[in-house]
Amino acid sequence: MPFYSNASELPDLTNAFAQPLPDSLVSLGTDFYTRLPAAPIPAPYLIGFSEEAAALLGFDAQLARNPAFIEWFAGNQTHLLAPHAQPFATVYSGHQFGVWAGQLGDGRALMLGEIEHQHTRYEVQLKGAGPTPYARMGDGRAVLRSSIREFLCSEAMHHLGVPTTRALCVIGSDLPVRREQIETAAVATRIAPSFVRFGHFEHFYACNRADLIAQLADHVIARHYPECQEAANPYLALFKEVTLRTADLLAHWQSIGFCHGVMNTDNMSILGLTIDYGPYGFIDEFNFNHICNHSDHAGRYAYQQQPHVAYWNLACLARALLPIIDKGQIDPCTLEEVQQALDAFKTRFAEAFRTRMRSKLGLTHTHEDDDKLIEHLFKTMHENHADFTLTFRQLAQISSHHSKSDTSVSALFADRSACQAWLCDYRTRLSIESRDDIERAVAMNRVNPKYVLRNYLVENAIQRAKQKDFSEVEQLLNVLRHPFDEAPKYQAYAQLPPSWASSLEVSCSS
Ligand code: AMP
Ligand code: MG
Repeated sequence: MPFYSNASELPDLTNAFAQPLPDSLVSLGTDFYTRLPAAPIPAPYLIGFSEEAAALLGFDAQLARNPAFIEWFAGNQTHLLAPHAQPFATVYSGHQFGVWAGQLGDGRALMLGEIEHQHTRYEVQLKGAGPTPYARMGDGRAVLRSSIREFLCSEAMHHLGVPTTRALCVIGSDLPVRREQIETAAVATRIAPSFVRFGHFEHFYACNRADLIAQLADHVIARHYPECQEAANPYLALFKEVTLRTADLLAHWQSIGFCHGVMNTDNMSILGLTIDYGPYGFIDEFNFNHICNHSDHAGRYAYQQQPHVAYWNLACLARALLPIIDKGQIDPCTLEEVQQALDAFKTRFAEAFRTRMRSKLGLTHTHEDDDKLIEHLFKTMHENHADFTLTFRQLAQISSHHSKSDTSVSALFADRSACQAWLCDYRTRLSIESRDDIERAVAMNRVNPKYVLRNYLVENAIQRAKQKDFSEVEQLLNVLRHPFDEAPKYQAYAQLPPSWASSLEVSCSS
């Protein structure tokens, strides 16, 4: 039940956010954040609304029609909150593109507080609601295009089953915002059990404040990793768990061809969620070295680099946790344990990736040559510019007995015979499986999405939204709600990208 009577009536957010729930982040004190009101935007309008995300908060879908809702989540009502209940921006630091960047923080994100619904608590955050003390030279705003990208991909990833922060809505305004050109502002509402990043820990490490690292770690453990409290060294246990979750997340990304684009340590979630959707991309034509972020000239965050970067980022987290993992002088045995915990990333990632790939290929048994089969497929896709999503989806159509149905897959490869050579190995491998082709196809279609948020699809929605037509945002959300289901009416969304898509460039500008 929503915590208000009429479905279209806005819940009493003023009250909800005025009374912080026990052990919420805000209880940590002002070393961690600064309170300030949001900067209102003129004449806000709704661009997108996620019913599923709303349901997490106990909000009814009808709320999207309520002007009071739009005003609230535009950031236009925070002045109604008492001074002690004002939104807050947290401080963090981080490594950007491998270089220590010093203090960063929520430059344009403001936490409203937490909402508890059905015994689950979510932090609610406005992104783009004005500059904070951590904005550095930024204007605190987010533009329409980047907000639509964040909104749609958060929800798309959730429906793909990938751990992610969620997006409740995106609200626009004609307020001009200067980027390379003049654009317009938007505010996205994000929700997650926690927005704590690796960078939060790095910040207090850089400040030489082990007491604050411990306070934050205690909060994260108590709220999100309670099982670590039982461990001999709860902070080491926390690091181990974060490492495993991060490895699982990376295996998931790699298995669906998702590139994050800006895997700086401040964009790494302590919960192993996908966080901060910027110049991300789902790979169309497969390339190991695919770079989705036009600002990433060296390819630090290329597809194939992502697991290595995650490991590197975890090493930064380990260093930030060391002062509390080992309180006295750093003991070589403890260092060894931390190194082992870090290295567990490699085995966990490899195992999680192998497991995902086996199920993507419809394999239920294990075979010692499976890694070779998987590597051979990726190499063939890379050399032949095969579409990532369609290749895996079409593999479900392959007969395990004959090659008559092979063209649905091989047509995606520049050299069809290269694909056929791999399919020959694949059929040999399928011969030791016990499922029939139909069962296998059903299982494969449950893990190989038909619809992903390709760049050109979101670009289409953005171009229409710029003309104040938000129907394509809604339509895309509808398509991406069921990424694994065959839906003839959405066939156009599962096609190879048009030729103009290859010239699309997405950068850090947002
Ligand atoms: P990002 O690359 O989006 O993860 O942002 C890196 C840092 O820059 C974070 O501390 C952001 O809060 C901050 N930032 C990015 N854009 C802006 C902006 N327009 N105004 C204020 N801060 C920003
Ligand atoms: Mg960020």
